[in-house]
Amino acid sequence: MKIYCAIPSQFSLRQRNELRDRIPFISEHINMVKVNTSENKIVLEYEGTEEESTVLKSEMNTLIEHIAATRWIEKPAVKKYETKHHHSLPIKQEQQHPHPKKTSAYYNEVELALLEKLDAEMLAIAKQVKAQMRSYPTILHEQNMQRNQYHKNFPQHIYAVHHIPHQHKIIEQFRKSNEGQDQWFTHTGDYLQPCICYHCYEELGNQKWDNHHIFTAKGPCFRHEVEWKLNTFRKNEFMMREIVFVGDQQWVIFMREQLMQAVWTLFCKLDMTGHIIAAHDPFFHYDDVQQKAMFQLVTDAKYELEVNVGDDKHYSIASFNYCEDVLCEKYNITGRDGQALYSGCVAFGLDRWLAALFYYYGQDMKKLPL
Ligand SMILES: [Zn+2]
Repeated sequence: MKIYCAIPSQFSLRQRNELRDRIPFISEHINMVKVNTSENKIVLEYEGTEEESTVLKSEMNTLIEHIAATRWIEKPAVKKYETKHHHSLPIKQEQQHPHPKKTSAYYNEVELALLEKLDAEMLAIAKQVKAQMRSYPTILHEQNMQRNQYHKNFPQHIYAVHHIPHQHKIIEQFRKSNEGQDQWFTHTGDYLQPCICYHCYEELGNQKWDNHHIFTAKGPCFRHEVEWKLNTFRKNEFMMREIVFVGDQQWVIFMREQLMQAVWTLFCKLDMTGHIIAAHDPFFHYDDVQQKAMFQLVTDAKYELEVNVGDDKHYSIASFNYCEDVLCEKYNITGRDGQALYSGCVAFGLDRWLAALFYYYGQDMKKLPL
């Protein structure tokens, strides 16, 4: 069924977009959310029962109240860099990749070769600043998650790891059961990694350092996205390379700037259209949006490189994060004086770079300057 929801007339564009982006988290039975600008309404497609839809409507009202009560920063987004040329965008190559949810989704040899080339470019940037290479496990242990609190800040995105306990009886029961199998699984306390950098903090944690550190590592990362929003840019599982730097404040700020310029140079070499813009993390709770997200915007804690893929559509393909001393404090990473160090990270979504290249060079990969 279609459900309509009036957007309060006093809502700014930011609030309207926030409402549109938040509604999918109310229920898994929502299949589509669209803004009808001419009538100032949100239209959504809902698969639940009539009775459930009453609950949905009341939850939407609560959401609207939360959004209305949040003080939003309405300053225009700070753009660090923007491509000067606005060449006409190519027609999107819809057929280039299968939908990531289909089991037939795979990368072919051409795509794999491109992914390797892209990663080589990012690794070269990491090597320029003398990053040390690392490889970490895909599973992020419970103790690590407790330190960084990602699961509490972004519960909408986590994947938890479950196993069958090593108890003969339970293993047998699981083997025999055909339905209701979930009951035999126990949460290990661990998670699939949502990003790479927490491993670096763990490596440096509970120690005093008198030198700075810079690491680079890549690996598959996992985020539970809204199912109907999945596409070649937004995947539940994706490959990410990060460059992570820990040291004194001035050096960390300088390092983020230097890396941002290097990545921008690469983006321009690939001749795509986009910008680097101030951003914030997608905190779930409104207390966090109010405090942490707005603080990130005010302090320029996060920049994102967004590629333009037609109309007003942008996807973030890299982020440049300055974490002040927050994460070092959480992991007890200090200088000789016992004061927490500062840190930052730069993250590349390799699948997104690939999807962007297909968007721009789809039929003409031979022209790609890589
Ligand atoms: Zn990171």
